[in-house]
Amino acid sequence: KLPVLEVEQLKTYFYLSEKQVAKAVDDISFSVYPGETVALVGESGSGKSMTALSIMQLINKPGRIVDGKITVSDKDLIRLKQKQMTNIRGNEIAMIFQEPMTALNPVYTIGNQIIEVIRKHKKVSKKEAESRAVELLKIVGIPRAEEVMKEYPHQLSGGMRQRVMIAIAISCDPKLLIADEPTTALDVTIQAQILDLLADMQKTFEMSILLITHDLGVVSEYADRVMVMYGGQIVEQADTRALLKSTKHPYTKGLLASLPNIDQDVDRLGTIKGTVPPAFNFPVGCRFSTRCPYVMEKCRQSNPELKEVEPGYFVRCYLQEEVGESE
Ligand code: SF4
Ligand code: MG
Repeated sequence: KLPVLEVEQLKTYFYLSEKQVAKAVDDISFSVYPGETVALVGESGSGKSMTALSIMQLINKPGRIVDGKITVSDKDLIRLKQKQMTNIRGNEIAMIFQEPMTALNPVYTIGNQIIEVIRKHKKVSKKEAESRAVELLKIVGIPRAEEVMKEYPHQLSGGMRQRVMIAIAISCDPKLLIADEPTTALDVTIQAQILDLLADMQKTFEMSILLITHDLGVVSEYADRVMVMYGGQIVEQADTRALLKSTKHPYTKGLLASLPNIDQDVDRLGTIKGTVPPAFNFPVGCRFSTRCPYVMEKCRQSNPELKEVEPGYFVRCYLQEEVGESE
């Protein structure tokens, strides 16, 4: 099967000043296949959102995609004209964000906003778009859909607003949905409902999902594959089950150890100390070396490559190479 999305050696840099370049996304490659949910995991500042915004071609100055290729339906998105990209956005890829309020227009009714999106992408009458909008609201589990059509975003709860965003996202039947921390701003009970809704929609509409989250608990329940990002790079990538069973990268181990209820035999690092270094000031060598409890001399000298240590299992860490060498 051909991938729905293929990202190759993507680099997105921010030119903060003459001397400061923030390498927000620094040479990452991955694919998303039909029907898959792939999670992009990491703390804030690790480059997850910038990866998503790069795919959507929504990087603004002083940021710029400096290298790489992003292929969707045989087209390299980086080289598309703005108008062609507008077509891809919505028709082929849709995105939902952490705070739906920022994506919804406060002065238009819910109904008008959904109708507008539908009519931007499909040649249908206002009336047809309207009945489709009501139908979509029902599909995403919004009660009294006809009335909600006439309401404004602020009249809805956060969970309901996110349902509206999902309705808008699926209105054009995209192949890929990018969900950037879609439940982080919501109450715990609502979070599960929204994630279950996404999983439902994925089946109904046969979409792939790129799920961005900082929560490995969410990953364990919803993702087929995981990519862990740190310092603008992928540090560990594998099938979810394999990754949770035999976590290899010290950073991922730290993320896992900070989860209260994952039943796994990892050495408990506790929460990882310190914060992600700023993207304009990565350490020389391994980007995790300033926080890694296993740091060795060579870690401070050069950055390890992302290597396949088992079929389909990739890790960027010198410890893995030592394991390999001694075998
Ligand atoms: Fe830690 Fe070294 Fe591995 Fe980096 S390469 S994660 S510093 S052990
Ligand atoms: Mg983010």
